[in-house]
Amino acid sequence: MKKQMAEAYRQIIESLGEDLARPGLKDTPERAAKAMKFLTKGYNEDIDKIINDALFPTDSSEMVIVKNIELYSLCEHHLLPFIGKCHVAYIPNGQVIGLSKVARIVDVFARRLQIQEHLTQQIAATLQEKTGALGVGVIIESQHMCMMMRGVEKQNSVMTTSCMLGAFRNKQSTRTEFLSLIE
Ligand SMILES: [Zn+2]
Repeated sequence: MKKQMAEAYRQIIESLGEDLARPGLKDTPERAAKAMKFLTKGYNEDIDKIINDALFPTDSSEMVIVKNIELYSLCEHHLLPFIGKCHVAYIPNGQVIGLSKVARIVDVFARRLQIQEHLTQQIAATLQEKTGALGVGVIIESQHMCMMMRGVEKQNSVMTTSCMLGAFRNKQSTRTEFLSLIE
């Protein structure tokens, strides 16, 4: 698989008119394939293995927020990065999930070919399903290299997407609390 990918990169580089024999490019196809494999490793990861029973009983039904989770993904339309921050909140329903696991869940879905809208929904739905929370809110703010480096070259535009489930969807006060806490 990696060999096939390296061959594809060889063709891309050649079609740029570049000389694959020059020292700087000699190992680039293999390196690029390795990098691409890393950037899309979410395809080979199993959510249940990652959570690995890191769910702990609680009596609290206070909102839990993990904000400013670094996010690196690849847009599925241009294979260019989009980079930003993800804010995740949920209201426990008898159990809380280990904090680092929230960040890992974000990564599993970010390390695939994505659009930001789906990524936001997948993170929220997974957290909802795996924790049985009373509600989940996810907001992603990111900058898309396909906007910044090509086409319209809008350097400072930030795209914001959100997905609100359960109490975050039904209760204005919950949503407002979440939004005020991530500002
Ligand atoms: Zn794009």
